[in-house]
Amino acid sequence: MSRVVVVGSFNVDHVWTTATLPRPGETLGGRYATGPGGKGFNQATASARAGAATTFVCALGDDPGGELARRLADADGIDLRAQRSDEPTGTAGIYVDGEGRNSIVIGAGANGVLSPAHVAAQRDAFDAAGVVLAQLESPPAAITAALQAARAGEATTLLNPAPANAPTTRELLALADILTPNETEFAGLVTRHVGERIDGDAVTALDQSRLHALCRELLPAGTVVVTLGASGCFVSHAGDALRGDERPFYRLGAEQVRAVDTTGAGDAFNGALVAALAGGSGVAFAAHLRFASRFAALSTEREGAAASMPRRDEVLERFG
Ligand code: ADP
Repeated sequence: MSRVVVVGSFNVDHVWTTATLPRPGETLGGRYATGPGGKGFNQATASARAGAATTFVCALGDDPGGELARRLADADGIDLRAQRSDEPTGTAGIYVDGEGRNSIVIGAGANGVLSPAHVAAQRDAFDAAGVVLAQLESPPAAITAALQAARAGEATTLLNPAPANAPTTRELLALADILTPNETEFAGLVTRHVGERIDGDAVTALDQSRLHALCRELLPAGTVVVTLGASGCFVSHAGDALRGDERPFYRLGAEQVRAVDTTGAGDAFNGALVAALAGGSGVAFAAHLRFASRFAALSTEREGAAASMPRRDEVLERFG
């Protein structure tokens, strides 16, 4: 069992649930809740709860949000490597309406100044890592430093290219052994980097061999896992690197659950996937994906982002 290193964001989420999303000039009342979030921290929490020894590299302000991150990391046994910043700890203002649609404003704060030097200084963690996971809520230079440190230490690199509007380059994508976009992110990447305009809503319905061809163009040497929400995921491997699978591409269905809040489902999936990859060599990639999909499905049965992550034994108890 090797270590997982997650590099990314921590946010304090402020969530208002309202009947409708506020329009310009409108004042609404709503139910308020606050809790930990940020793609990096959600994924690190998922990885730790899925059973992997996990290091989380991030930047935090010297404020109550930063204290919260330290306390929660400690509670989940996460090895926290936080750069101290004069900026405030990251925040997210989230409105959710009666139909589950949301509008989000991110105050990047400290997340926006995570430095390549701080990332590179965690060399001992990268050298001990079997898998390194990053997302795009941190500066591109810091993400690049993380993936390069992972490659230098011979860890498997996984890049979750989220959020969808974050800038990407082909050079950054090529540092990923495994790329895990959701439908919207996949459509954006294909439009930008393959030069074919596709619509996020149409991805699930695309023919599998067509999806495979697009994935091959996007990441010729690596594996692409396109997550499709309640429809599961699509996997595409490079021909010479099937990661123990029998087929170069396939669909895997999602588990049937009573979803109440799908916020952070992708984070649950990514965190559980890296934990599974770090825990088991000699196991087919599809088996790791099945664990990630079960873990993510359980996370949708509870409200919250990081707080909604289940534990490995709950997943095994529920699905065997
Ligand atoms: P994101 O949160 O990044 O948009 P997805 O919505 O694609 O990511 O979800 C990631 C994974 O979580 C899916 O591939 C699936 O395995 C699981 N998942 C998401 N929504 C559901 C759901 N309603 N029921 C069961 N599993 C789900």
